Amino acid sequence: MGLENYHKYDAVIVGAGGAGLYAALELSRQGVNVAVVSKLYPTRSHTGAAQGGIGAALGNIAEDHPEWHMFDTVKGGDYLTDQDAARVLAEEAVLTVYDLEHMGLPFSRLENGKIAQRKFGGHTRNFGEGPVERACYAADRTGHMILQTLYQQCIKNNVTFFDEFHMTDLVMNGDTVCGIVAVSLYDSSVHTFHAKAVLFGSGGFGRMFSVTSNAHALTGDPVAICFRHGIPLEDMEFFQFHPTGIYKMGILLSEAARGEGAILRNKDGERFMERYAPTMLDLAPRDMISRYIYMEIRAGRGIEGKDYVHLDFTHIDPKIIEERLPDITDFVRVYMGIDPVKVPVPIQPTAHYAMGGIPTDLDGCVIKDPKNTPVPGAFAAGECACVSVHGANRLGTNSLVDILVFGRRMGIAGADYCRSAEWKPLPSDASDTTRAQIEAILANSSGQSAADIRRELQVEMMDKAGVFRTGEGLETVKKTVDDLKQRYLKVGVTDRGTSFNTELLEAVELGNLLELAEVTVESCIARTESRGAHAREDYPDRDDANWLKHTLAYREPDGSIRMDYKPVVLGTFEPKERKY
Ligand SMILES: Cc1cc2nc3c(=O)[nH]c(=O)nc-3n(C[C@H](O)[C@H](O)[C@H](O)COP(=O)(O)OP(=O)(O)OC[C@H]3O[C@@H](n4cnc5c(N)ncnc54)[C@H](O)[C@@H]3O)c2cc1C
Repeated sequence: MGLENYHKYDAVIVGAGGAGLYAALELSRQGVNVAVVSKLYPTRSHTGAAQGGIGAALGNIAEDHPEWHMFDTVKGGDYLTDQDAARVLAEEAVLTVYDLEHMGLPFSRLENGKIAQRKFGGHTRNFGEGPVERACYAADRTGHMILQTLYQQCIKNNVTFFDEFHMTDLVMNGDTVCGIVAVSLYDSSVHTFHAKAVLFGSGGFGRMFSVTSNAHALTGDPVAICFRHGIPLEDMEFFQFHPTGIYKMGILLSEAARGEGAILRNKDGERFMERYAPTMLDLAPRDMISRYIYMEIRAGRGIEGKDYVHLDFTHIDPKIIEERLPDITDFVRVYMGIDPVKVPVPIQPTAHYAMGGIPTDLDGCVIKDPKNTPVPGAFAAGECACVSVHGANRLGTNSLVDILVFGRRMGIAGADYCRSAEWKPLPSDASDTTRAQIEAILANSSGQSAADIRRELQVEMMDKAGVFRTGEGLETVKKTVDDLKQRYLKVGVTDRGTSFNTELLEAVELGNLLELAEVTVESCIARTESRGAHAREDYPDRDDANWLKHTLAYREPDGSIRMDYKPVVLGTFEPKERKY
């Protein structure tokens, strides 16, 4: 089949969100010949939707220290967080925020000109005494500003972009990664990228759930592709539900709302968090609040007996709301037709963030076993990766830190690798799998509808692999996913054109979602305890004796999934009961 549309770069980055762009910046600064491949136009990446802030212990309002930030990250992750990674995150967060400031990011400011900071869930002073202002922000458009700033810097550094190129396969030579295959949205042409290093910054996969804050494109394609190529996935049972999505729609109302004083209330108008988390109240970590909301609903205290509660802004000075939360108040006005300044807003937990993903070391090198053996030529950072800095539950504002701190570190490690690594030849059949996959979908004229399969998957995952899980429910969803995978073999499309065939690429994405749902469910079944975002009603307690370890899920050559385990890096903070 030959290799037309052949491209050769020392480093190819998949993804143009915060992680991919920071890595691109670092590689270009070091003179490495780098290309960024992104299925979205770069500034449409999900990083641009991040609202509330980026956490860093600057101490601009109240005393703060990276050690406190590290502690909160470890405790927030229910002690599954690797503590060496949490230390790197907390220490380098401070430098990263100043780095962004020097690149021109327009942070909100205090009267004295310093970067403004606000409170956020799980971020505390002095190892848990009470909330601290640690989130640096640009109104509620922090991610938008980060993305624009980094993109401008990449353009300045002449980074090459392949916009609207959809990665469909990974190319390996033996154990070494040597390129990727991508389809151009413009004309459906298949392109092969030959590289010494492939760096993933490809974001999350919340689209496997029916109610999610995640953009349509968050289908985790490269994560699923790595898995198919024998790279394990770490801690996939931990998927975070953010407590405050707009009812039924899942659109996010940032935790910044509660940082600025908004309160959760049940049908009696009661501030129910007083009962569950007397110190941190509405700023307890997300996994806990999402569970408490469901517990209130189950106890019959949902609003009007339905499956939602209220987020109440009405006591906050409208000036503060307009100034510091302009976007989310607009969302409420536009999507719900109500004014949050005057009436409480209906909310429910929404699938938000993948703690699990492609396992890496502290420099973003992808690893393939519990001994941290690297996969030569492969790097990952940001939401697609699991370093593991969030453990069983991520704290708000820590993802923006993660993507930048570890995006930069992967850029530096990738540049080192490119300088010393030899070129590996590209197999001549590199793009055959992609061509065959596309031809098959186009040939299935009376095939199954991708939209139907996707909907069934999302509803089942939300229902049985969401905030609460049971062994029985998980076995049912496992069977559903198996059935849907069978139906997917016959998936077809109505558009058989080559120009901007989004229907075709969405069908390809669905295959990846099914793959990730399958491994998520297997990992949920394996972990017979409750920790962080993984709440098993049949195993309600955390079980450190047996489960203070990471899971690694492997796709075996016979198609089955095998689980292996990896120790948690401890060292500074002993696991304790989580109280807030
Ligand atoms: C609504 C919302 C609000 C949030 N608010 C905050 C916040 O205030 N603070 C915080 O810390 N975190 C927040 N988060 C989480 C945080 O924004 C994300 O986890 C983070 O931005 C992910 O960045 P990333 O660089 O890993 O990936 P993304 O920014 O998601 O970028 C992924 C990139 O990968 C590319 N890609 C994916 N698949 C392919 C493919 N097959 N081929 C080619 N390219 C591909 C995409 O085109 C895109 O460029 C929020 C998330 C959401 C959804």
